Amino acid sequence: MSKWRDSIRIVRHLTAFRIWNILLLRVSFLSARIFSKPIHLGLPASMSIEPTTACNLGCPECPSGLKQFTRPTGKLDLNLHRKLLNQIEKSVFYINYYFQGEPFLHPEFLELIKDAKRSRIYTSTSTNGHFITPEKALEIVDSGLDRIIVSIDGLTQETYEQYRVHGKLSKVISASQNLVAAKRERNSHTPHLIFQFLAVKPNEHEIPQVFELASEMSIDEVRIKTAQLYDYKNGNPLMPENERYSRYKRQGDGTYKLKGKPW
Ligand code: SF4
Repeated sequence: MSKWRDSIRIVRHLTAFRIWNILLLRVSFLSARIFSKPIHLGLPASMSIEPTTACNLGCPECPSGLKQFTRPTGKLDLNLHRKLLNQIEKSVFYINYYFQGEPFLHPEFLELIKDAKRSRIYTSTSTNGHFITPEKALEIVDSGLDRIIVSIDGLTQETYEQYRVHGKLSKVISASQNLVAAKRERNSHTPHLIFQFLAVKPNEHEIPQVFELASEMSIDEVRIKTAQLYDYKNGNPLMPENERYSRYKRQGDGTYKLKGKPW
């Protein structure tokens, strides 16, 4: 039910022009494939915006966690963001407010969300859940944010910190409880709350239990995510044993290759 409600909410952000633009993009894509040359008729329909490159954690497969960015670090300026919204709001109906970095470390992160909501854009973010106090959870609900993904990558501190280095599982659990309580207090269905479980070798055995925990906590949805590993050819201590949860496939000679081909 919650998933349907979330999907319907996305569709409600479509205007006549935005639908027309998506059709133009589909035609462009299909024509480009048929004629094997770039054909581009539409405008951007969705975007990813990185509020900040800073992060409090040290995840081993993330440039933010490793402090290894090749681009400048910093936070998005509010005025620049408004200028951007003015340029794209006619065609863009969906913005992901995350890439690398923890969005809630941007001191005015929720102002970005409020501005996007004024432009009638569906907004989504992803967080490590270390900064969501009861008060912040109420502010999040009041901002109009449509979707929040909370990374819960282990059901014990020991398994959790194998990937979320310097992280505290107890903070992730209380952040999620605070969000559920804030939604109840405001009688709101938003933000749609997703538990995201990054499957790695140390935690893959806990996957069935994460669904149970989510149900007990009234989390709207659970997503199991496969991990991107920079160093995978000769195996990696983080690579799950169950290939279903891995992006890589073992070959006859014992080395690994990426499953499938990019579209
Ligand atoms: S929490 Fe996210 S942004 Fe921070 S280090 Fe981990 S993967 Fe990177």
